[in-house]
Amino acid sequence: MKGPTHIVGGLAAATFTMNVLSVHIQEPIIFYGAALFGAIIPDICHPRSMIGRTVPLLSNMLSKMFGHRSITHSLFFIFLIYWGLQQLEFRGSNDLQLGIIVGVISHIILDLLTPQGTKLFYPIKSNIRIPFYVKTGSILGENSVMAILLVMTIYLLVA
Ligand SMILES: [Zn+2]
Repeated sequence: MKGPTHIVGGLAAATFTMNVLSVHIQEPIIFYGAALFGAIIPDICHPRSMIGRTVPLLSNMLSKMFGHRSITHSLFFIFLIYWGLQQLEFRGSNDLQLGIIVGVISHIILDLLTPQGTKLFYPIKSNIRIPFYVKTGSILGENSVMAILLVMTIYLLVA
């Protein structure tokens, strides 16, 4: 999926976490900001992605070492981020941690919906995908996913 779809996915996941799962968030602005950031982090392995263009050296290095949609699109990466953020301690650090994790998970779920899928169980190299899938950038498919996520988010915010 493309950057804008992942951002909407992060927004939807953050809203779902707060409004449906009723997780208590101290600092919503930190939580939402972190979720939006988390939603684009996994594509750091793709030099032409939104975040890849921001840190081209790191992105090229990750791309050459691991390839696209491998380590940064895996359960291992979620645990790595979780562990790394556990080391932070300040007001709102829990919201930052949860927001980034929620964003990263939303990104991986959306990429599991693509024909290529992701290497979810990296270092096991098989690509995993959800049986029904959507071609990245397709007008009908990807835009429909984005529209559904937006409608769901708006519904959750006003309901
Ligand atoms: Zn991705």
